[in-house]
Amino acid sequence: MNLINRDRASLWHPYAPASPTLPLWEVEEASGVTLRLKDDDGARHEVVDAMSSWWSAIHGYRHPTLDDAARRQLSRFSHVMFGGLTHEPAVELAERLLAMAPADPSHAPLGRVFLADSGSVSVEVALKLAVQYQSAVGRPRRQRILSIRGGYHGDTTGAMSVCDPLDGMHATFAGLLSHNVFAPRPPGAATATPEGIGAWRDAVDGLARIHSDELAAIIVEPVLQGAGGMFVYPSECVRALREIADRHGLLLILDEIATGFGRTGELFAANHAGIVPDILCVGKALTGGYLTLAAMLCNDEIARTVSAGGAGALLHGPTFMANPLACAIANASLGLIGDGGWRHDVRRIGAGLANGLARAAAYDGVADVRTIGAVGVVELERAVDVPALTRAAIRRGVWIRPFRNLVYTMPPYICTDADVATIAEGMLGAIAEMHAEVRA
Ligand SMILES: *Cc1c(COP(=O)(O)O)cnc(C)c1O
Repeated sequence: MNLINRDRASLWHPYAPASPTLPLWEVEEASGVTLRLKDDDGARHEVVDAMSSWWSAIHGYRHPTLDDAARRQLSRFSHVMFGGLTHEPAVELAERLLAMAPADPSHAPLGRVFLADSGSVSVEVALKLAVQYQSAVGRPRRQRILSIRGGYHGDTTGAMSVCDPLDGMHATFAGLLSHNVFAPRPPGAATATPEGIGAWRDAVDGLARIHSDELAAIIVEPVLQGAGGMFVYPSECVRALREIADRHGLLLILDEIATGFGRTGELFAANHAGIVPDILCVGKALTGGYLTLAAMLCNDEIARTVSAGGAGALLHGPTFMANPLACAIANASLGLIGDGGWRHDVRRIGAGLANGLARAAAYDGVADVRTIGAVGVVELERAVDVPALTRAAIRRGVWIRPFRNLVYTMPPYICTDADVATIAEGMLGAIAEMHAEVRA
């Protein structure tokens, strides 16, 4: 049996049935922005990775600096428990994250880091911290979260409970998920008016007021909702949430697991709004896509209050917390970010995508084309045939993974202009081919 058939006989894939017909490609090698794939029939394909392995491999594959960091840490130790022990990679990572986190003199700076093993877990920790904080300040009834429709915060049950209620499959898991409060989605960046933003702000403020006795925090993905729809909205709305949180005694949790480390054109999406959250979650690109690692940052006041509260501790502690290998690679990745070259690259890639994808706006069946930072999105009027579109893109030398009606790219920052052109052409060609088939 070939590898793909052995996979089909034994594994689950993300959001997939256990299926003998699931289309799969074997990755034989990856370097730079290139994936070398083998298909079912043994045919090989070289493709530009337009997904950065779900938005994480921002420096590309086998980057010499990250490879070196991994090798160096491997020769010291790969993992030790974090209870009662510490190590240089974790301390350095905390210091680096705090130094680069959004800051603004009018709000308490982020001063404390909890290292978690995935983005979803960092969201769980953020939600638990918010509830523990409210309890510690004498508001133990505040245990619900205000979330925004269209959001995505992860696949564990706490995180799912703040995802969009439809997308998050709340009906399927009704008895398992806690019941949170959902505000409408903000107006889209392209069509928002001052009146529209004002009306949205008033609606969210009204919800926060009605439920203020039971709400611990607001959670939101600033400026770009990712897996919930690749939806871009004005930074004024993020500023409004900062004010609403302050007015009603709620903590503001920014989920920057997708948007952190330059993806939207600022180091953090919060920087577009010029605000500081009380709690910040980062993940995905943190290790440059090498290993799973995420972090939750909070301000000193929250850390002090929770530590002095009834429990006397933040009640969380994963086995693989602060994995040294992952931390060492994250430090190397943040070192590359620290060079500042990402800003030019993200702008250059964004311009290339805006230019390369613009033509799709005139296509039959395309509802919208939008870009922000190094993100390019073509929204179709109907759900895409994922296997067929994937094949059509691979034939054009591009790896994409569309979902619902969205064909999008978040390429590695090391993409050349030629790579960006290949990605845009591949996306448009695949979309055009699909629609030709639909019409035939
Ligand atoms: C991917 C993602 C998560 C979940 O992170 P995992 O590492 O997959 O658990 C949470 N929030 C946002 C905004 C994400 O994009």
